[in-house]
Amino acid sequence: MASFERTGIRRVIVVVMDGMRADAVPLFHLRTLERLAARGAWTFHAETVQPSVTAAAMGSLFTGVTPREHGLDTDRFRLPQPRVALEPVPGALARAGIPSFVFLASIPRLYRPLAARLARIAGVTDATFTGMDAPQILDASMPYLTARDHGLFLFHWPDGDRAGHAAGWTSRAYAAALRRMDDTLGRLDAITGASTDEGTLLIAVADHGGGGHVATNHDSDHVHDRRVPLIVAGGQVRPGTLPAGTSLLDVPATIVHALGATVPSSYGGRVLHEVLPDLAVPDEDRYALVAAC
Ligand SMILES: [Zn+2]
Repeated sequence: MASFERTGIRRVIVVVMDGMRADAVPLFHLRTLERLAARGAWTFHAETVQPSVTAAAMGSLFTGVTPREHGLDTDRFRLPQPRVALEPVPGALARAGIPSFVFLASIPRLYRPLAARLARIAGVTDATFTGMDAPQILDASMPYLTARDHGLFLFHWPDGDRAGHAAGWTSRAYAAALRRMDDTLGRLDAITGASTDEGTLLIAVADHGGGGHVATNHDSDHVHDRRVPLIVAGGQVRPGTLPAGTSLLDVPATIVHALGATVPSSYGGRVLHEVLPDLAVPDEDRYALVAAC
């Protein structure tokens, strides 16, 4: 049985918008995110991990556990030395026959072997490191997005973080970078039909905010650094606001569950059941439920 039959979700698209602060969507009137929030499930008060840096947050999105557990607990990508046995999202999906594709910015030649090795260890089917900003990274994903409609498609867009470090969070350059990411998300949605497609979950999230204690940084406990937007859209998503305490760590569990694979018991977050369609209970299970009543 194809695994997605239980939820009807066959494709999950996750877009990580680097450095998008939680208050940015209303502050800069980011039209795509406002539209997705209006018809989907959303919060502008989701918590990211500690420390609030990209490597730590991406490590958690990939492995479902905290930075302390997966070991990428600084702002540097390296081979992690985890404190627990890791069960990365792509590996959990692969065990159920579900492919994963990741699309990240191009990286210096020196780091490519490490990046490829990390992707392989995590169980990623195919990793693309092409493009300097959100529009270019989306362009590089086109052959995959248009040819395949089953599996996880994960994007990381660096624009917001780069502008925040250079000119400050809430600067004019930062606002322009966020609009570029927002427009690109609109283009992705137009190409894939994700926000209205019944078989798709589209998750937009940030790895961290910024401009909390330091105008050009984001690694602190400050609410502007720790809080991120989290929006879930899709044709079957139940609209509404996500509850207080919703976390970046809820994303990996939700991805795996939505695609019909088994959520590893090590995962720290919860499945956002309230946004997902009711599971179709197979007849034999239904009978067992009735018998147990
Ligand atoms: Zn940064």
